[in-house]
Amino acid sequence: MEVWKKSLKELSDLVKRKELKPSEIVQSFAERTRSLEQKINSYVTNLIDTAVEESIKKDEEISKLADIPDLFGLPIAVKDNISTKGIRTTCSSKILENYIPPFDATVIEKLKNQGYILTGKTNLDEFAMGSSTENSAFFTTKNPWDYGRVPGGSSGGSAAAVGAGIVPAALGSDTGGSIRQPAAFCGVVGLKPTYGRVSRYGLVAFASSLDQIGPITRTVEDAALLMNVISGKDPKDSTSSDRELPDFLSYTGRDIKGLKIGLPEEFFIEGIDSTVKESVLNAVRQLEKEGAEIVEISMPTTKYAIESYYIIAPSEASSNLARYDGVRYGYRTSQYGSLEEMYSKTRDEGFGAEVKRRIMLGTYSLSSGYYDAYYLKAQKVRTLIYQDFMKAFEKVDLLATPTTPDVAFKIGEKISDPLQMYLSDIFTVSVNMAGVPGISIPCGFKDGLPVGLQLIGRPFDEGTLLQVAYYYEKMNDFYKRFPGE
Ligand code: GLN
Repeated sequence: MEVWKKSLKELSDLVKRKELKPSEIVQSFAERTRSLEQKINSYVTNLIDTAVEESIKKDEEISKLADIPDLFGLPIAVKDNISTKGIRTTCSSKILENYIPPFDATVIEKLKNQGYILTGKTNLDEFAMGSSTENSAFFTTKNPWDYGRVPGGSSGGSAAAVGAGIVPAALGSDTGGSIRQPAAFCGVVGLKPTYGRVSRYGLVAFASSLDQIGPITRTVEDAALLMNVISGKDPKDSTSSDRELPDFLSYTGRDIKGLKIGLPEEFFIEGIDSTVKESVLNAVRQLEKEGAEIVEISMPTTKYAIESYYIIAPSEASSNLARYDGVRYGYRTSQYGSLEEMYSKTRDEGFGAEVKRRIMLGTYSLSSGYYDAYYLKAQKVRTLIYQDFMKAFEKVDLLATPTTPDVAFKIGEKISDPLQMYLSDIFTVSVNMAGVPGISIPCGFKDGLPVGLQLIGRPFDEGTLLQVAYYYEKMNDFYKRFPGE
């Protein structure tokens, strides 16, 4: 088998047994990158050439190591809203086009301690606002299964890179679905951890009460492997949790007999594509045959998730994005008279249309006189959504839903209709609102385009999600399929 087809875990084992050198691995992905990257445009900053050089150094270092870390010498891509010291971090925004962070995000520090190799910074919707990467200020990433379609978003670059096999794994961020939706569209695994599981230090803030960093990989085992590295309490992020960390890999290979899986009726509504629905229900039936118990449930307030998310996320964004004022860092307009004019021209020229829309929505919702009617009310709805999940988890161990109502849409199809674009996250946003973990795994194809199954778990129970996802993955062979083959 070609090296680039191997999973991160397989590569890790081969490096540890000294059967494969880091340079042989990176070289294989570099060749794949050279043949495909021009077609999919997954990287804002493509570092594959420096990754090759780095891997040769790693070949030498390895002989001096008594204990080889799991990710030593392995290539990984990182979404371009995660700070990398000395490496441009743009958020796919003109306002940060030339911004070079003077520090690493905590997740990057952790990857560096393992001896990982950065292959590049991946494209996203500007500041992670969007579902297609069409909001990137630079270019749109293409879906590796069909270049005329979007890879999803906002972590579209990361998902497309993993889906195309130009890198074995990537990091993304998920505020309302940005890891799971592109993972579903590109036929890969995407895990949004419980809020607080992974440090947000160095993740450029969009909506701080919803944002989480997580893995995008080919296999469930690889997601577990990355979770083992990136999770944990961080003194630099006061919202990170000091809950004990399990060995996430230990959940893969466990039996699923007796586990209760809930099917929330609100996630199988009219309007969802029939092949998507059938694929998801098929997956659920397979799990039932293996001894899981299926329970139909209702989560009545989750249907308000989109509306309340689009009050809360823009409100937090309007506040977080106030820092881009042309003074401290980032873009500044070239011509201005007064200070006031400098601020407004900088922001007008630096931000794209969707980011401006969010800032306006958020500022409005937070303004005096409207705060109670919008922001406060949305927060109350958020509590009800959380309670819906907690009630469900009294009856079941996890939930199964489609990740998205349909497969990847055509480039340009939804860009002029923000509401339609927002609706592609209808099944993912409630998970962020409740702060619980969710994973998307491939569960079928519709006309050659991947379909995603979403599993949602109790707070800090990523383990059960990995357990069931791994079990399902092994019964099927979706993860073995690559686009164009
Ligand atoms: N698509 C959603 C939005 O535009 C979610 C984005 C995300 O998770 N970062 O806000």
